[in-house]
Amino acid sequence: MLTKPFLSHSQSSCALECGAKWWAIWHLGYQPVDIESMPQRVGTLGHAYALDDIVALWHDHTKAWNGDTFWRVAEERKWDIERMDIDVDDECARARWGASNLDTFLNLQRYHLIPDLYSRKPGGPLAEVRIDVPWARVHEVVPMQDLTAAVEVFSGIDGQPDLVTMEKGWGGPATITDYKFRQKPGLAEATSEVPDTQGAWYHTLLTAAGLRPAGGLEFRQISVYAGPMLTVDDFLEPGSPHVIERGLPSRMPKNVEPEVFDEAFRLLVQRTTQQRAAEGKRWSPTANDLAEARRHIEDLRHIRRVEERRFPLDPSVCREVVRDLVSHVDALLHQVRRGHRPARHLRSHPSSPCSRPFGCSVQGPCLASLGSHNFSAVLRSMSADGRLSPRAERIAEMPADMDFATLS
Ligand code: SF4
Repeated sequence: MLTKPFLSHSQSSCALECGAKWWAIWHLGYQPVDIESMPQRVGTLGHAYALDDIVALWHDHTKAWNGDTFWRVAEERKWDIERMDIDVDDECARARWGASNLDTFLNLQRYHLIPDLYSRKPGGPLAEVRIDVPWARVHEVVPMQDLTAAVEVFSGIDGQPDLVTMEKGWGGPATITDYKFRQKPGLAEATSEVPDTQGAWYHTLLTAAGLRPAGGLEFRQISVYAGPMLTVDDFLEPGSPHVIERGLPSRMPKNVEPEVFDEAFRLLVQRTTQQRAAEGKRWSPTANDLAEARRHIEDLRHIRRVEERRFPLDPSVCREVVRDLVSHVDALLHQVRRGHRPARHLRSHPSSPCSRPFGCSVQGPCLASLGSHNFSAVLRSMSADGRLSPRAERIAEMPADMDFATLS
């Protein structure tokens, strides 16, 4: 017997963002081949390594990472190493670097990990476990019985918080942590000052699932740098872009540890001195060179590899946000049942998902259909050409677009 799916935050926020995108991805199952880019794969791997650390701590082991983590994740996500041109060593190194930055920052030994009493397979820590909550329990927190299409199509809501801890003891609030792995060192700009709707979703999900701590729930978003870090060899290799004309290391890259820069500076001074001597010239770094290098090393010590923002979760605001998210899915389901495809509302400002490159995963067929073809026809032809994953099988059943030109 087919069981009805649970509604996720991803689907609801997609519905809120753009009806046409929701229709293509969640209703028809559109999924472009190779949808996971390198930064997304590193993020997925970073989560896997971080979870290994948390589970190891829970079981009182000291180390959890082993060579299997990548291959387990690759199998789960169906990554084709050759076709997707995955540099396994590089992506693992980035993800491990990010996970170890996160581990140092979280310092979980100080906190209470919460036992998972809420997922389908309880046991272990409340970290990255899928929690399904049926409507009957969701309605106790947010009444949504009137959203008939959503209630009929789904069994309830689900979610998978990255980590939930009690930082101030069992009487304090439970902290829901969501972390993201970034490829650029400028974390302060990448970390939003306003909370993601995920916080409200998890608040409702966990409350409905039965987690009701005396101190309430709070939400924190963490951005972790998981990009490449320069090594001494990167500075020493012939023609290195990280060496300035004077033969000293450039102070431009910020993805370098202070100790690495210090050592690169020492070796480059040595190399440049020898090169100049071979040319019959005397050379040594100036007092200014040395002072600037020392200043730069000090600056590097203060670069943050992890940024955190905390947000209180007001239960009434969370209820309002979640009800609104589910309402959007409900409205779109009603629309589709009446035979209408949600229209594209293209946003034209340069940084919008419709305009910036890779801003929306449906951008290709959506924009390709702006001329003589309609959106449905483009999706249908992509499906017929085998350019979509097998998840797109429902495209064959989709209704033809309504012909508004024939309506008077
Ligand atoms: S490109 Fe814009 S209008 Fe088209 S599906 Fe994506 S978000 Fe919607």
